Amino acid sequence: MELGFSSEELAFRDEVREFLRDNLPEHLKKGMAASPGVFVEPDIGQEWQAILNAIGWLAYQWPVEHGGTGWTPIQRYIFEKECALAGAAALTVLSLKLFAPVCYTFGAPEQKARLLPRVLSGEDYYCQGFSEPGSGSDLASLQTRAVLNGDHYLVNGSKVWTTHAHHANRMFCLARTNTEVRKQAGISFLLLDMDQPGVTVRPIITLGGDHEVNEVFLDNAIAPVEDRIGAEGEGWTIAKFLLENERGGSCFAPKLLADVDAVEAAAMRECDGERGPLGLTAEWKRRIAELRLQAQALEMIELRILGDVSRGLPPGPQTSMIKLLSSNLRQAVDLTWMEVYGAIGMQYETSRPLYGNGAPEPIRSRGAQVAAPRYLNSRAWTIFGGANEVQLGIIAKTVLRT
Ligand SMILES: Cc1cc2nc3c(=O)[nH]c(=O)nc-3n(C[C@H](O)[C@H](O)[C@H](O)COP(=O)(O)OP(=O)(O)OC[C@H]3O[C@@H](n4cnc5c(N)ncnc54)[C@H](O)[C@@H]3O)c2cc1C
Repeated sequence: MELGFSSEELAFRDEVREFLRDNLPEHLKKGMAASPGVFVEPDIGQEWQAILNAIGWLAYQWPVEHGGTGWTPIQRYIFEKECALAGAAALTVLSLKLFAPVCYTFGAPEQKARLLPRVLSGEDYYCQGFSEPGSGSDLASLQTRAVLNGDHYLVNGSKVWTTHAHHANRMFCLARTNTEVRKQAGISFLLLDMDQPGVTVRPIITLGGDHEVNEVFLDNAIAPVEDRIGAEGEGWTIAKFLLENERGGSCFAPKLLADVDAVEAAAMRECDGERGPLGLTAEWKRRIAELRLQAQALEMIELRILGDVSRGLPPGPQTSMIKLLSSNLRQAVDLTWMEVYGAIGMQYETSRPLYGNGAPEPIRSRGAQVAAPRYLNSRAWTIFGGANEVQLGIIAKTVLRT
Protein backbone atom coordinates (compact mmCIF):
# COMPACT_ATOMS: atom_id res chain seq x y z
CA MET A 1 0.00 0.00 0.00
CA GLU A 2 1.53 3.32 -1.13
CA LEU A 3 0.69 6.02 1.42
CA GLY A 4 2.81 8.87 0.04
CA PHE A 5 1.84 11.39 -2.65
CA SER A 6 3.41 11.28 -6.13
CA SER A 7 5.75 14.09 -7.24
CA GLU A 8 2.92 15.58 -9.37
CA GLU A 9 0.64 15.57 -6.33
CA LEU A 10 3.32 17.21 -4.21
CA ALA A 11 3.77 19.90 -6.90
CA PHE A 12 0.00 20.44 -6.86
CA ARG A 13 0.08 20.74 -3.06
CA ASP A 14 2.75 23.43 -3.34
CA GLU A 15 0.66 25.31 -5.91
CA VAL A 16 -2.35 25.25 -3.56
CA ARG A 17 -0.18 26.38 -0.63
CA GLU A 18 1.17 29.29 -2.64
CA PHE A 19 -2.31 30.30 -3.73
CA LEU A 20 -3.58 30.22 -0.15
CA ARG A 21 -0.60 32.21 1.10
CA ASP A 22 -1.25 34.95 -1.48
CA ASN A 23 -5.05 34.97 -1.66
CA LEU A 24 -6.59 33.96 1.65
CA PRO A 25 -7.32 37.23 3.46
CA GLU A 26 -6.41 37.47 7.14
CA HIS A 27 -9.89 38.65 8.14
CA LEU A 28 -11.46 35.50 6.64
CA LYS A 29 -9.07 33.32 8.63
CA LYS A 30 -9.95 35.23 11.79
CA GLY A 31 -13.65 34.98 10.97
CA MET A 32 -13.38 31.21 10.52
CA ALA A 33 -11.43 30.82 13.78
CA ALA A 34 -14.15 32.78 15.55
CA SER A 35 -17.08 30.83 14.08
CA PRO A 36 -18.76 28.76 16.79
CA GLY A 37 -21.47 27.27 14.57
CA VAL A 38 -21.65 24.09 12.53
CA PHE A 39 -21.83 26.19 9.34
CA VAL A 40 -19.86 29.29 8.54
CA GLU A 41 -21.82 32.55 8.22
CA PRO A 42 -22.34 33.72 4.61
CA ASP A 43 -20.45 36.99 5.10
CA ILE A 44 -17.29 34.89 5.43
CA GLY A 45 -18.19 31.92 3.26
CA GLN A 46 -19.47 33.92 0.28
CA GLU A 47 -16.39 36.17 0.19
CA TRP A 48 -14.11 33.13 0.06
CA GLN A 49 -16.43 31.56 -2.52
CA ALA A 50 -16.02 34.60 -4.80
CA ILE A 51 -12.21 34.43 -4.53
CA LEU A 52 -12.19 30.74 -5.49
CA ASN A 53 -14.74 31.27 -8.26
CA ALA A 54 -12.56 33.98 -9.82
CA ILE A 55 -9.76 31.44 -10.45
CA GLY A 56 -12.08 28.56 -11.32
CA TRP A 57 -11.41 26.47 -8.20
CA LEU A 58 -14.81 26.79 -6.53
CA ALA A 59 -16.60 23.84 -8.12
CA TYR A 60 -13.66 21.48 -7.64
CA GLN A 61 -16.02 18.57 -6.99
CA TRP A 62 -18.22 19.13 -10.05
CA PRO A 63 -17.76 17.62 -13.53
CA VAL A 64 -15.61 19.75 -15.83
CA GLU A 65 -18.50 20.49 -18.22
CA HIS A 66 -20.31 22.37 -15.42
CA GLY A 67 -17.31 24.33 -14.17
CA GLY A 68 -15.31 21.65 -12.32
CA THR A 69 -11.52 21.66 -12.20
CA GLY A 70 -10.93 18.13 -13.48
CA TRP A 71 -8.80 17.37 -10.42
CA THR A 72 -8.33 13.76 -9.40
CA PRO A 73 -9.96 12.70 -6.09
CA ILE A 74 -6.49 12.88 -4.46
CA GLN A 75 -6.00 16.44 -5.73
CA ARG A 76 -9.39 17.38 -4.29
CA TYR A 77 -8.33 15.86 -1.00
CA ILE A 78 -5.06 17.78 -1.02
CA PHE A 79 -6.97 20.99 -1.75
CA GLU A 80 -9.35 20.41 1.18
CA LYS A 81 -6.49 19.52 3.49
CA GLU A 82 -4.45 22.59 2.59
CA CYS A 83 -7.50 24.84 2.97
CA ALA A 84 -8.15 23.38 6.43
CA LEU A 85 -4.50 23.77 7.48
CA ALA A 86 -4.50 27.38 6.26
CA GLY A 87 -7.69 28.13 8.24
CA ALA A 88 -9.78 28.95 5.15
CA ALA A 89 -13.51 29.46 5.54
CA ALA A 90 -15.70 26.43 4.94
CA LEU A 91 -17.69 26.60 1.71
CA THR A 92 -21.47 26.33 1.67
CA VAL A 93 -22.24 22.63 1.68
CA LEU A 94 -25.93 23.19 0.93
CA SER A 95 -25.54 24.88 -2.46
CA LEU A 96 -22.22 23.54 -3.71
CA LYS A 97 -22.14 19.98 -2.40
CA LEU A 98 -25.80 19.04 -1.94
CA PHE A 99 -27.91 20.96 -4.45
CA ALA A 100 -25.41 21.16 -7.33
CA PRO A 101 -24.72 17.39 -7.62
CA VAL A 102 -28.49 16.78 -7.65
CA CYS A 103 -28.89 19.41 -10.38
CA TYR A 104 -26.15 18.08 -12.67
CA THR A 105 -27.12 14.43 -12.08
CA PHE A 106 -30.93 14.59 -12.26
CA GLY A 107 -31.66 18.02 -13.80
CA ALA A 108 -32.75 18.68 -17.38
CA PRO A 109 -30.11 20.33 -19.64
CA GLU A 110 -32.00 23.64 -19.43
CA GLN A 111 -32.01 23.48 -15.60
CA LYS A 112 -28.29 22.76 -15.43
CA ALA A 113 -27.54 25.70 -17.75
CA ARG A 114 -29.81 28.06 -15.80
CA LEU A 115 -29.26 27.06 -12.17
CA LEU A 116 -25.63 25.97 -11.78
CA PRO A 117 -24.01 29.30 -12.84
CA ARG A 118 -26.18 31.05 -10.23
CA VAL A 119 -24.76 28.77 -7.52
CA LEU A 120 -21.20 29.53 -8.60
CA SER A 121 -21.75 33.29 -8.67
CA GLY A 122 -23.38 33.17 -5.24
CA GLU A 123 -26.62 34.68 -6.63
CA ASP A 124 -28.44 31.62 -5.34
CA TYR A 125 -27.87 30.46 -1.77
CA TYR A 126 -29.90 27.36 -0.98
CA CYS A 127 -31.35 25.93 2.20
CA GLN A 128 -32.53 22.34 2.61
CA GLY A 129 -36.22 21.75 3.32
CA PHE A 130 -36.30 18.04 4.13
CA SER A 131 -37.02 17.54 7.86
CA GLU A 132 -40.44 18.23 9.33
CA PRO A 133 -41.85 18.00 12.84
CA GLY A 134 -42.31 14.22 13.14
CA SER A 135 -40.36 13.39 9.97
CA GLY A 136 -36.62 13.41 10.58
CA SER A 137 -35.17 9.91 10.72
CA ASP A 138 -38.36 8.63 9.11
CA LEU A 139 -38.10 11.19 6.32
CA ALA A 140 -40.38 9.30 3.92
CA SER A 141 -43.33 10.04 6.22
CA LEU A 142 -43.15 13.77 5.40
CA GLN A 143 -46.48 15.58 5.18
CA THR A 144 -45.73 18.76 3.20
CA ARG A 145 -48.12 18.68 0.28
CA ALA A 146 -47.58 20.09 -3.23
CA VAL A 147 -50.61 20.37 -5.51
CA LEU A 148 -50.26 21.11 -9.20
CA ASN A 149 -51.90 24.39 -10.22
CA GLY A 150 -51.11 25.19 -13.87
CA ASP A 151 -47.41 25.96 -14.32
CA HIS A 152 -46.62 25.74 -10.60
CA TYR A 153 -47.25 23.75 -7.43
CA LEU A 154 -48.90 25.22 -4.36
CA VAL A 155 -46.91 23.95 -1.40
CA ASN A 156 -48.31 23.71 2.13
CA GLY A 157 -46.64 22.38 5.26
CA SER A 158 -43.80 23.11 7.62
CA LYS A 159 -40.10 22.33 7.69
CA VAL A 160 -37.87 22.38 10.75
CA TRP A 161 -34.17 22.70 11.61
CA THR A 162 -33.69 24.44 8.26
CA THR A 163 -30.08 25.62 8.38
CA HIS A 164 -29.52 29.18 7.11
CA ALA A 165 -33.12 29.57 5.87
CA HIS A 166 -32.81 33.18 7.08
CA HIS A 167 -29.88 33.75 4.70
CA ALA A 168 -31.08 31.67 1.75
CA ASN A 169 -32.93 33.07 -1.26
CA ARG A 170 -33.82 29.56 -2.48
CA MET A 171 -34.94 26.29 -0.93
CA PHE A 172 -34.67 22.77 -2.33
CA CYS A 173 -37.35 20.70 -0.66
CA LEU A 174 -39.20 17.43 -0.60
CA ALA A 175 -42.99 17.56 -0.90
CA ARG A 176 -45.70 14.99 -1.37
CA THR A 177 -47.24 15.26 -4.85
CA ASN A 178 -49.18 11.99 -4.68
CA THR A 179 -50.94 10.52 -1.65
CA GLU A 180 -52.32 7.45 -3.45
CA VAL A 181 -49.06 5.54 -3.80
CA ARG A 182 -46.45 4.00 -1.47
CA LYS A 183 -45.10 6.86 0.70
CA GLN A 184 -41.62 6.88 -0.93
CA ALA A 185 -43.14 6.97 -4.43
CA GLY A 186 -45.29 10.05 -3.81
CA ILE A 187 -42.47 12.52 -3.09
CA SER A 188 -41.04 15.13 -5.50
CA PHE A 189 -37.95 17.35 -5.35
CA LEU A 190 -38.98 21.00 -5.77
CA LEU A 191 -37.24 24.37 -5.68
CA LEU A 192 -38.81 27.56 -4.44
CA ASP A 193 -37.97 31.20 -3.80
CA MET A 194 -37.76 32.12 -0.12
CA ASP A 195 -38.76 35.70 -0.78
CA GLN A 196 -42.48 35.21 -1.43
CA PRO A 197 -45.60 35.78 0.68
CA GLY A 198 -46.18 32.03 1.22
CA VAL A 199 -42.88 31.50 3.08
CA THR A 200 -42.35 32.40 6.75
CA VAL A 201 -39.05 31.80 8.53
CA ARG A 202 -38.91 31.66 12.32
CA PRO A 203 -35.54 31.39 14.14
CA ILE A 204 -34.50 28.57 16.49
CA ILE A 205 -31.66 29.69 18.77
CA THR A 206 -29.25 26.86 19.55
CA LEU A 207 -27.89 25.87 22.95
CA GLY A 208 -24.68 27.68 21.98
CA GLY A 209 -26.63 30.93 21.54
CA ASP A 210 -26.43 30.98 17.75
CA HIS A 211 -29.03 31.51 15.08
CA GLU A 212 -28.24 28.84 12.49
CA VAL A 213 -31.45 26.85 12.22
CA ASN A 214 -35.08 27.77 11.66
CA GLU A 215 -38.65 26.67 11.31
CA VAL A 216 -40.06 27.37 7.85
CA PHE A 217 -43.79 27.56 7.22
CA LEU A 218 -45.10 27.07 3.68
CA ASP A 219 -48.56 28.49 3.11
CA ASN A 220 -49.54 28.23 -0.55
CA ALA A 221 -45.89 28.80 -1.43
CA ILE A 222 -45.26 28.71 -5.17
CA ALA A 223 -42.81 26.18 -6.63
CA PRO A 224 -42.62 26.46 -10.45
CA VAL A 225 -42.96 23.19 -12.40
CA GLU A 226 -39.91 24.20 -14.48
CA ASP A 227 -37.91 24.05 -11.21
CA ARG A 228 -38.93 20.50 -10.27
CA ILE A 229 -35.78 18.37 -10.48
CA GLY A 230 -36.43 14.92 -11.92
CA ALA A 231 -39.85 13.47 -12.61
CA GLU A 232 -42.83 13.74 -10.31
CA GLY A 233 -42.41 10.99 -7.69
CA GLU A 234 -38.63 10.74 -8.17
CA GLY A 235 -37.92 12.81 -5.06
CA TRP A 236 -37.08 9.86 -2.81
CA THR A 237 -34.41 8.52 -5.19
CA ILE A 238 -32.92 12.02 -5.39
CA ALA A 239 -33.07 12.46 -1.61
CA LYS A 240 -31.15 9.21 -1.04
CA PHE A 241 -28.48 10.36 -3.52
CA LEU A 242 -28.28 13.73 -1.78
CA LEU A 243 -28.04 12.19 1.69
CA GLU A 244 -25.10 10.03 0.61
CA ASN A 245 -23.35 13.23 -0.46
CA GLU A 246 -24.30 14.91 2.83
CA ARG A 247 -22.80 12.05 4.83
CA GLY A 248 -19.63 11.43 2.87
CA GLY A 249 -19.38 13.91 -0.02
CA SER A 250 -16.87 15.96 1.91
CA CYS A 251 -13.72 14.77 3.60
CA PHE A 252 -13.90 15.46 7.32
CA ALA A 253 -10.40 14.32 8.36
CA PRO A 254 -8.46 17.35 7.01
CA LYS A 255 -10.35 19.82 9.21
CA LEU A 256 -10.28 17.45 12.20
CA LEU A 257 -6.51 16.98 11.88
CA ALA A 258 -6.04 20.75 11.63
CA ASP A 259 -8.20 21.21 14.73
CA VAL A 260 -6.26 18.57 16.70
CA ASP A 261 -3.08 20.58 15.91
CA ALA A 262 -4.86 23.72 17.14
CA VAL A 263 -5.97 21.99 20.36
CA GLU A 264 -2.41 20.85 20.94
CA ALA A 265 -1.05 24.36 20.37
CA ALA A 266 -3.66 25.79 22.75
CA ALA A 267 -2.84 23.15 25.37
CA MET A 268 0.82 24.17 25.19
CA ARG A 269 -0.15 27.83 25.65
CA GLU A 270 -2.89 27.72 28.24
CA CYS A 271 -1.88 27.18 31.84
CA ASP A 272 -3.68 24.92 34.22
CA GLY A 273 -3.19 26.58 37.60
CA GLU A 274 0.05 25.56 39.22
CA ARG A 275 0.79 22.67 36.90
CA GLY A 276 1.97 24.82 34.00
CA PRO A 277 1.03 24.36 30.36
CA LEU A 278 -1.41 21.51 29.89
CA GLY A 279 0.44 20.11 26.90
CA LEU A 280 3.36 19.22 29.13
CA THR A 281 1.42 16.79 31.29
CA ALA A 282 1.37 13.14 30.25
CA GLU A 283 -2.43 12.99 30.48
CA TRP A 284 -2.94 15.82 27.94
CA LYS A 285 -0.30 14.41 25.64
CA ARG A 286 -2.11 11.05 25.70
CA ARG A 287 -5.51 12.58 25.01
CA ILE A 288 -4.28 14.65 22.11
CA ALA A 289 -2.33 11.72 20.65
CA GLU A 290 -5.50 9.61 20.84
CA LEU A 291 -7.52 12.22 18.95
CA ARG A 292 -4.78 12.53 16.31
CA LEU A 293 -4.66 8.75 15.81
CA GLN A 294 -8.42 8.61 15.36
CA ALA A 295 -8.32 11.47 12.85
CA GLN A 296 -5.51 9.74 10.95
CA ALA A 297 -7.50 6.48 10.87
CA LEU A 298 -10.50 8.41 9.50
CA GLU A 299 -8.21 9.97 6.87
CA MET A 300 -7.18 6.48 5.72
CA ILE A 301 -10.83 5.43 5.34
CA GLU A 302 -11.63 8.61 3.42
CA LEU A 303 -8.66 8.08 1.11
CA ARG A 304 -9.75 4.48 0.50
CA ILE A 305 -13.24 5.66 -0.50
CA LEU A 306 -11.65 8.29 -2.77
CA GLY A 307 -9.69 5.46 -4.38
CA ASP A 308 -12.99 3.63 -5.07
CA VAL A 309 -14.54 6.82 -6.48
CA SER A 310 -11.57 7.38 -8.80
CA ARG A 311 -12.14 3.84 -10.15
CA GLY A 312 -15.71 4.86 -10.99
CA LEU A 313 -17.45 3.26 -7.99
CA PRO A 314 -20.09 5.29 -6.10
CA PRO A 315 -19.18 6.28 -2.50
CA GLY A 316 -22.21 4.24 -1.41
CA PRO A 317 -23.34 3.39 2.12
CA GLN A 318 -19.73 3.46 3.39
CA THR A 319 -20.45 7.18 3.73
CA SER A 320 -22.49 6.26 6.82
CA MET A 321 -19.27 5.01 8.41
CA ILE A 322 -17.58 8.32 7.63
CA LYS A 323 -20.51 10.29 9.04
CA LEU A 324 -20.55 8.22 12.24
CA LEU A 325 -16.80 8.32 12.92
CA SER A 326 -16.34 11.97 11.97
CA SER A 327 -19.33 13.14 14.06
CA ASN A 328 -18.08 11.34 17.17
CA LEU A 329 -14.57 12.66 16.65
CA ARG A 330 -15.83 16.21 16.00
CA GLN A 331 -17.51 16.14 19.41
CA ALA A 332 -14.44 14.66 21.11
CA VAL A 333 -12.19 17.37 19.62
CA ASP A 334 -14.58 20.16 20.61
CA LEU A 335 -14.91 18.73 24.12
CA THR A 336 -11.12 18.64 24.53
CA TRP A 337 -10.90 22.17 23.13
CA MET A 338 -13.32 23.39 25.78
CA GLU A 339 -11.53 21.50 28.55
CA VAL A 340 -8.20 23.02 27.53
CA TYR A 341 -9.66 26.45 28.18
CA GLY A 342 -11.33 25.27 31.37
CA ALA A 343 -13.20 27.92 33.31
CA ILE A 344 -12.13 30.71 30.90
CA GLY A 345 -13.73 28.81 28.03
CA MET A 346 -17.03 28.58 29.86
CA GLN A 347 -17.44 32.35 30.16
CA TYR A 348 -18.40 33.12 26.62
CA GLU A 349 -19.52 36.59 25.76
CA THR A 350 -23.08 37.22 24.79
CA SER A 351 -22.14 40.25 22.70
CA ARG A 352 -21.14 38.76 19.42
CA PRO A 353 -20.88 39.19 16.26
CA LEU A 354 -17.46 37.79 15.82
CA TYR A 355 -17.51 37.21 12.13
CA GLY A 356 -15.93 38.58 8.99
CA ASN A 357 -14.27 41.79 7.99
CA GLY A 358 -14.45 44.51 10.59
CA ALA A 359 -15.50 42.22 13.45
CA PRO A 360 -14.20 43.61 16.75
CA GLU A 361 -11.25 41.90 18.37
CA PRO A 362 -12.49 39.65 21.16
CA ILE A 363 -11.73 40.49 24.76
CA ARG A 364 -10.14 37.07 25.34
CA SER A 365 -8.39 34.82 22.84
CA ARG A 366 -10.64 33.72 19.98
CA GLY A 367 -10.02 30.11 20.96
CA ALA A 368 -11.35 30.67 24.46
CA GLN A 369 -14.23 32.75 23.18
CA VAL A 370 -15.65 30.04 20.93
CA ALA A 371 -14.80 27.02 23.10
CA ALA A 372 -18.14 26.64 24.89
CA PRO A 373 -20.54 27.59 22.05
CA ARG A 374 -18.59 25.39 19.63
CA TYR A 375 -18.82 22.45 22.03
CA LEU A 376 -22.56 23.00 22.53
CA ASN A 377 -23.25 23.40 18.79
CA SER A 378 -21.21 20.30 18.00
CA ARG A 379 -23.78 18.18 19.84
CA ALA A 380 -25.80 18.48 16.62
CA TRP A 381 -23.25 16.47 14.60
CA THR A 382 -24.60 13.15 15.81
CA ILE A 383 -28.14 14.21 14.81
CA PHE A 384 -28.17 16.09 11.50
CA GLY A 385 -27.71 14.32 8.16
CA GLY A 386 -29.10 11.22 9.90
CA ALA A 387 -28.59 10.46 13.60
CA ASN A 388 -25.84 8.06 14.73
CA GLU A 389 -28.36 5.29 15.43
CA VAL A 390 -29.70 5.63 11.88
CA GLN A 391 -26.17 5.39 10.44
CA LEU A 392 -25.58 2.24 12.52
CA GLY A 393 -28.79 0.77 11.07
CA ILE A 394 -27.61 1.54 7.50
CA ILE A 395 -24.17 0.03 8.17
CA ALA A 396 -25.74 -3.11 9.62
CA LYS A 397 -28.13 -3.54 6.69
CA THR A 398 -25.95 -2.55 3.74
CA VAL A 399 -22.25 -2.71 4.63
CA LEU A 400 -21.93 -5.59 7.10
CA ARG A 401 -24.42 -7.79 5.27
CA THR A 402 -22.59 -7.60 1.89
C1 LIG B 1 -28.14 21.67 13.84
C2 LIG B 1 -29.07 20.93 12.93
C3 LIG B 1 -29.18 21.34 11.61
C4 LIG B 1 -30.06 20.70 10.75
N1 LIG B 1 -30.21 21.19 9.48
C5 LIG B 1 -31.16 20.65 8.68
C6 LIG B 1 -31.44 21.24 7.40
O1 LIG B 1 -30.80 22.22 6.98
N2 LIG B 1 -32.43 20.71 6.66
C7 LIG B 1 -33.15 19.62 7.06
O2 LIG B 1 -34.02 19.18 6.32
N3 LIG B 1 -32.93 19.06 8.28
C8 LIG B 1 -31.97 19.55 9.09
N4 LIG B 1 -31.74 19.00 10.34
C9 LIG B 1 -32.63 17.94 10.80
C10 LIG B 1 -31.97 16.58 10.97
O3 LIG B 1 -31.72 15.97 9.72
C11 LIG B 1 -32.89 15.73 11.87
O4 LIG B 1 -32.87 16.35 13.16
C12 LIG B 1 -32.42 14.29 11.96
O5 LIG B 1 -32.64 13.62 10.76
C13 LIG B 1 -33.14 13.55 13.12
O6 LIG B 1 -34.51 13.67 13.01
P1 LIG B 1 -35.41 14.16 14.24
O7 LIG B 1 -34.82 15.41 14.78
O8 LIG B 1 -36.82 14.20 13.77
O9 LIG B 1 -35.23 13.05 15.35
P2 LIG B 1 -35.99 11.66 15.43
O10 LIG B 1 -36.01 11.04 14.08
O11 LIG B 1 -37.27 11.84 16.14
O12 LIG B 1 -35.00 10.83 16.32
C14 LIG B 1 -35.01 10.94 17.74
C15 LIG B 1 -34.14 9.85 18.30
O13 LIG B 1 -34.63 8.57 17.91
C16 LIG B 1 -33.59 7.80 17.32
N5 LIG B 1 -34.10 6.99 16.19
C17 LIG B 1 -34.94 7.41 15.24
N6 LIG B 1 -35.14 6.42 14.32
C18 LIG B 1 -34.38 5.38 14.72
C19 LIG B 1 -34.12 4.08 14.18
N7 LIG B 1 -34.70 3.68 13.03
N8 LIG B 1 -33.28 3.28 14.84
C20 LIG B 1 -32.69 3.68 15.99
N9 LIG B 1 -32.89 4.90 16.55
C21 LIG B 1 -33.72 5.74 15.92
C22 LIG B 1 -32.61 8.84 16.77
O14 LIG B 1 -31.33 8.32 16.64
C23 LIG B 1 -32.68 9.94 17.78
O15 LIG B 1 -31.79 9.69 18.83
C24 LIG B 1 -30.85 19.60 11.21
C25 LIG B 1 -30.71 19.18 12.54
C26 LIG B 1 -29.85 19.83 13.40
C27 LIG B 1 -29.77 19.37 14.83
